[in-house]
Amino acid sequence: MSDQRVYNFAAGPSMLPLSALERAGSEIANYRGSGMSVMEMSHRSKIFMDIFDETQAKLRRLMQVPEGYHILFLQTGASGQFSMIPLNLIGRTGKADYAVTGNFSGLACKEAGKYGQIHLACDTSDRGHCYIPRQEELDLDPEASYFYYCANNTIYGTEWDYVPETGDVPLVCDMSSDILSMPVDVSRFGLIYAGAQKNMAPAGLTVVIIKDDLAGHHLPFTPLMMEYQLQIDKGSMYNTPPCWCIYMLGLTLDWVEENGGLEGMERLRSLRSGMLYDVLDGSRLFTCHADKGSRSGMNVTFRTGSEELDAKFVKEAAEAGFLNLKGHRMTGGMRASIYNAMPVEGVEGLCRFIQTFDRDN
Ligand SMILES: *Cc1c(COP(=O)(O)O)cnc(C)c1O
Repeated sequence: MSDQRVYNFAAGPSMLPLSALERAGSEIANYRGSGMSVMEMSHRSKIFMDIFDETQAKLRRLMQVPEGYHILFLQTGASGQFSMIPLNLIGRTGKADYAVTGNFSGLACKEAGKYGQIHLACDTSDRGHCYIPRQEELDLDPEASYFYYCANNTIYGTEWDYVPETGDVPLVCDMSSDILSMPVDVSRFGLIYAGAQKNMAPAGLTVVIIKDDLAGHHLPFTPLMMEYQLQIDKGSMYNTPPCWCIYMLGLTLDWVEENGGLEGMERLRSLRSGMLYDVLDGSRLFTCHADKGSRSGMNVTFRTGSEELDAKFVKEAAEAGFLNLKGHRMTGGMRASIYNAMPVEGVEGLCRFIQTFDRDN
């Protein structure tokens, strides 16, 4: 069955490591002699608590999350954090800085406006979000309660290649589409979050890594489920957590560990994206959406300049086993999402397909 798998270039939900899927398959009806599926277990049972604790410990180890930070396993997607972040963090000064470099940071910024005074640290919509501003181009408010940015812009295919310097203003980062793809110095951040369905697990889980002293300052009307402090106090189990997704995250993390940890992921990431950008740059037909120096290692956006040819490319690629290459409606063209679990051979195959298409059209 696994030899019939396609190369799925979808932006999310997206490919998971085959070893994780196969392991889940082998345990689906009877988890390690328990006689039941992880999907059927009480979230408060010893057997599930062990899965939960081990998954959290693995994530802490892999990302080297320091003391003084909590890891939360929440729901409501990455988008839920668009509200949860201002509700909990903006109260300190009533103000926040937002770097708008794409769709999701734009949505987060708009949502935060309900709860405080938002200042745009940058807005790259002037050139179709094809670039990331340099540090010296950021307009920083020293009174901001936090500085918000999105590390990798999934739709536009740009990625910050540096962590912004914001002095005493805590950094808040949406890492939904590049978490676990390289080492990060967690101690530089106040809060990191990610929806799981790009690089970690099935949809339904949102991972939040929060510095303890940022919690407990939520606005008085914050919904209970959206208080970080409550989730910290209850160990992410005020209510039933997304048990199956947490279990799957554990299996993905095993695969990451077996493949060299985050350094290993970074090597694979450079290999995949390097190959793809080289082939696109060397082609006659294709241009990349993102400026050089701002290009994403996870979502490669490109186009021919002709909508008919783009459609032909997407169709013929699918017939050749390279699926879901159609770009997001906001950018058009094509997008190849090459997350951790995309095998290098998948990208090699896509590169050969691009070269052939370039020659024949
Ligand atoms: C996919 C994505 C989101 C939205 O995730 P949901 O879990 O669907 O809310 C937000 N930010 C980034 C960077 C994403 O890639």
